[in-house]
Amino acid sequence: MPNRSYVAKKTIAKASLWKNTRPLLGRLDIELTERCNNNCIHCCINLPADDLDAKKKELPTKDLKKILTEAASLGCMTVRFTGGEPLLRKDFEELYIFARKLGLKVLLFSNATLITAHLTKLFRHIPPLEKIEITVYGMKKSSYEAVSRMSGSFEAAWRGIDLLLKNKISFVVKGALLPANKDEIDEFESWASTIPYMDKPPSYSMFFDLRCRRDGEKNRLIKSLRLPSKQGLEVLTRRKDKYVKEMKEFCSKFTRPPGDTLFSCGSGVGGGCVDAYGNFQPCMMLRHPVTIYSLKNGSLKDALLNFFPRMRKMKAANLDYLSRCAKCFLKGLCEQCPAKSWMEHGTLDTPVEYLCEIAHTQARFLGLLKEDEKAWEVEDWRERIGKFAGKEMVSGL
Ligand code: SF4
Ligand code: SF4
Repeated sequence: MPNRSYVAKKTIAKASLWKNTRPLLGRLDIELTERCNNNCIHCCINLPADDLDAKKKELPTKDLKKILTEAASLGCMTVRFTGGEPLLRKDFEELYIFARKLGLKVLLFSNATLITAHLTKLFRHIPPLEKIEITVYGMKKSSYEAVSRMSGSFEAAWRGIDLLLKNKISFVVKGALLPANKDEIDEFESWASTIPYMDKPPSYSMFFDLRCRRDGEKNRLIKSLRLPSKQGLEVLTRRKDKYVKEMKEFCSKFTRPPGDTLFSCGSGVGGGCVDAYGNFQPCMMLRHPVTIYSLKNGSLKDALLNFFPRMRKMKAANLDYLSRCAKCFLKGLCEQCPAKSWMEHGTLDTPVEYLCEIAHTQARFLGLLKEDEKAWEVEDWRERIGKFAGKEMVSGL
């Protein structure tokens, strides 16, 4: 037994590990590949698993190790391995062990189809220290494979999930709400509640992004799968009290007009995403050429200290944006941002109508807007938020 007078137990959040400053890089996302062994109808990123051109361009193991080493030296605590399907990389195990030996916690995003007994043994022996996140596309073969469009993927995913369960590897599940599986939501949630590591109900993607690389042939299909805003609201308000409580807190902190500021989010501050080919992006979705930094001749540190801060000073110039979003108090609640504008329009500052409608639908439900009002025309927004949240707005944000 340790002598208790010498032992102080602190959570990482409370320990002043960084002498009250934040590390330059707190968390790093790495897309190990854009390839996937599924071909989900709504997916914004996937390339075929056997796409040799994509495979050839992917970062080699040694470059990924160099990036991981630099990340750890900058204070990074967690690396998220994502894709595509990250387990398609033959060197996944080597990279995982390397990251864990550096002391990094690993958060793995996967469809579970490539989880093997060997991998679960590895996760048991060297735990990732973050719950693995698995997206489940359906509770039945017919619904799952209507989404994944890959024969045998249902059995493979459930085999992977069973292995995780049997070996007591901590994981959580998420859903993607699509016509093929939307009637299974109760069945999905009741099964998810039996997973010992789920401490809250699963989250869902439903307001799908268009193709991140703007390789547009699939975009019409993706648009047709997006939930209409009213149906999306029904899903968001399945637990109405919790939703309203969270919105009160959120709105009092984050809803306000941004002016001509383009980056009102935290993109490129203390984190970022390395794509499969060695470009450092300020966030996972933003791939506009003027916002990406090549790591081939640079470093994470240079991007975080110089490139991203310069990028964040960019101002919006689009006239539609300036007459609407710049004056709109729903900015914050609305998912309109440079990344969404890039995927939707190929620009950084064009309003996205679908997201605008979702934000307005939520605001009307919450009593922040009248039926015929547009958020950018509202002048007494401070009073409205104060009344809704039951407290003064947090100033200075
Ligand atoms: S499993 Fe994920 S990455 Fe693969 S196609 Fe489906 S949504 Fe895309
Ligand atoms: S709700 Fe509409 S106007 Fe307001 S920020 Fe979003 S896209 Fe812009």
